Amino acid sequence: MLQFFALYGNPVAHSLSPLLHNYAFRQLGIDALYGRILLHNGTQLYENFKAHHLSGANITVPFKEEAFRQSDEVRGIAKDIGACNTWVREGGQIIGYNTDAQGFYDCIKDYKITNALILGAGGSAKAVAMILKAHNIRTTLLNRSIEKLHFFRQKGFECFVSSDFSPTQNYDIIINTTSAGLNNHLLPCSEALLRHLCKGALYAFELIYGKQTPFLHIAKQCGLICADGGQMLINQAALAFALFCDDKDIKSERVAKLMREIW
Ligand code: NDP
Repeated sequence: MLQFFALYGNPVAHSLSPLLHNYAFRQLGIDALYGRILLHNGTQLYENFKAHHLSGANITVPFKEEAFRQSDEVRGIAKDIGACNTWVREGGQIIGYNTDAQGFYDCIKDYKITNALILGAGGSAKAVAMILKAHNIRTTLLNRSIEKLHFFRQKGFECFVSSDFSPTQNYDIIINTTSAGLNNHLLPCSEALLRHLCKGALYAFELIYGKQTPFLHIAKQCGLICADGGQMLINQAALAFALFCDDKDIKSERVAKLMREIW
């Protein structure tokens, strides 16, 4: 029987998720379609999912926290993050997961890292911080303002506001989870601070994908090993796909390889 899946968000028009999922469904001979649903009001997520008789969905900005609240059950690291990017229907229940966290970790799992610095304190920073913590990587948060750091302080992370941060140690990896550089030429913190941080680091990871951001530009100039968020995007999609299929033979690594063909 044909199954339906969708991406929820606002905006959704730019998203590559339908392309990635539909390609993988076709290549694996699975009778399913993946579309996009623009939602204006996140409180309607649950009833909209049910009304469309979806078998699963991905949820993107700004509804991941709403998806967490509305899940019938939340599994895995999503419970610590407080946000879900994947819903799977199990009988009459909606089960919520977060695949952003593992999708990120799979990109850096071969790096030699003992401590990390995350720039930014939004939704994606929560996923990155919680998966690093789960792997015992000492993690510090640096944000331009104080409000969003509250979540991380409560979880036991060391947190700083950029304007009064004087680093007293080196970080192996600097991870930019801010949206600085997405639609502008801004850096996530002052250039002097970023150059100082890069001097003591080995790796730079930028969550934004598909462009050389000012952050990546400086990290490259400083000789760091650099990666953007393209592989993370594919990994989270492939992990969600494996959950959608609930078939032990469908491994997310194989799906990620397939999705890379169309990327
Ligand atoms: P949020 O809106 O939740 O958080 C944005 C963060 O960026 C906040 O900490 C904010 O600081 C900070 N910020 C925004 N503008 C600036 C600026 N000019 N200078 C310094 N800090 C700034 O966003 P998300 O965490 O959901 O997403 C962040 C980025 O990650 C986006 O670009 C998104 O595209 C990307 N992303 C990529 C994924 C992938 O798979 N590759 C997955 C998820 C996200 P403040 O608190 O002070 O406002």
